Amino acid sequence: NRQPADLTAEFRAIFAAEPAALVRAPGRVNLIGEHTDYNDGFVLPMAIENDVRIALRPRSDRRVTLASADFDQQTTFGLDNLGHDDGSARWSNYVRGVAWAMMEKGLPIQGMDAVISGNVPIGAGLSSSAAMEVASAWAFQVASGFRMDPIDMALLCQKAENAWVGMRCGIMDQFISVVGQRDHCVLIDCRSLTYDAAPLPRGYSFVIVNSMVQRGLVDSAYNERRSQCEEGVRLLQRRLPGIKALRDVTPEQLDAFASILPPVTYRRCRHVVTENARVVSSVAALKAGRAAEFGQFMNASHDSLRDDYQVSRSELDTLVDIARATPGCLGSRLTGAGFGGCTVSLVQSKAVEAFVSHVSESYRRATGLTPDTYVSRAAAGAGQSYFTVLR
Ligand code: ADP
Ligand code: MG
Repeated sequence: NRQPADLTAEFRAIFAAEPAALVRAPGRVNLIGEHTDYNDGFVLPMAIENDVRIALRPRSDRRVTLASADFDQQTTFGLDNLGHDDGSARWSNYVRGVAWAMMEKGLPIQGMDAVISGNVPIGAGLSSSAAMEVASAWAFQVASGFRMDPIDMALLCQKAENAWVGMRCGIMDQFISVVGQRDHCVLIDCRSLTYDAAPLPRGYSFVIVNSMVQRGLVDSAYNERRSQCEEGVRLLQRRLPGIKALRDVTPEQLDAFASILPPVTYRRCRHVVTENARVVSSVAALKAGRAAEFGQFMNASHDSLRDDYQVSRSELDTLVDIARATPGCLGSRLTGAGFGGCTVSLVQSKAVEAFVSHVSESYRRATGLTPDTYVSRAAAGAGQSYFTVLR
């Protein structure tokens, strides 16, 4: 992991000047609330200590020069003729997209020289892309001397990812990267975009384990699940004319009208409706300091994703089964869209070291794959930074 001196030294070496500011934006892990975002529901992510950092200096000629310390590449563009990079510096599209979205919004954005470096693992499901966007938004606002509303910043970064990068995603990743709080997770209402921090239990850690299998099916399956949810809403509206999304349906209502839904649609809806209820109950458990109960909700979430929503796969189920059988583990589930990526487990802090080695070894024996693991406290959201030493 790169330390601050590296980024400053890198900036000096490339631009022969001191950076005027250092900004950072974190990756995230979702603790519970999966496939609820596009159903106007609730999610409960926390920001992690892995982040993307930018050292910058404003420029007055409307040009942006970016250097990637991690990819060892540079690219330059003008704010008045932004284009996509389809060649060697594709990572710059996250910065270009944010600049584009800011200008669309009429913000008085300035050029800058910037060096970018990060340690959010790429493509592991911890949202390095949102960290890139939010760090870029912070860099531009510092370089340009304006201050955005946090929710507007999250929406703008989501727009950059949807419309510039071309990746369909909900609001969670950018939102938590902006509003994360140290040692707290954040309940986000994906309909109203209101949020509420909840304290994480003392003496416990969240352990993220990368299954090292890719999310092959994810695009087509994701779109199919979304359509099935929409179909469920359409059919349920015949009996429940007031509903706009599965967010508006209680588990009791869904049971009462189960017979009007095709069986598969019913199971998809049951995941979403019960998952929303679990998120709300999980927050109550956290606020009351009931860690074991939170772990039970995590387990129920995974089982529902596996059986009703059918977005798990054998490697993820294996990881979860191993984790749950390991001493000190209170709950374990897949996190992210599914079909690969990571699991997250709630583990007694004093048992974390043994947990990590036991899970890694057992998973390797079962699958032949060696998992990457991450243990992070909940981190603060994006901002201008004084760097801290990370593990
Ligand atoms: P993830 O699941 O990590 O969000 P994505 O494919 O959505 O995966 O985004 C990963 C992309 O974000 C990378 O291919 C790269 O273009 C960009 N990115 C992430 N981290 C960095 C970094 N440290 N420096 C430059 N670009 C980065
Ligand atoms: Mg991403």
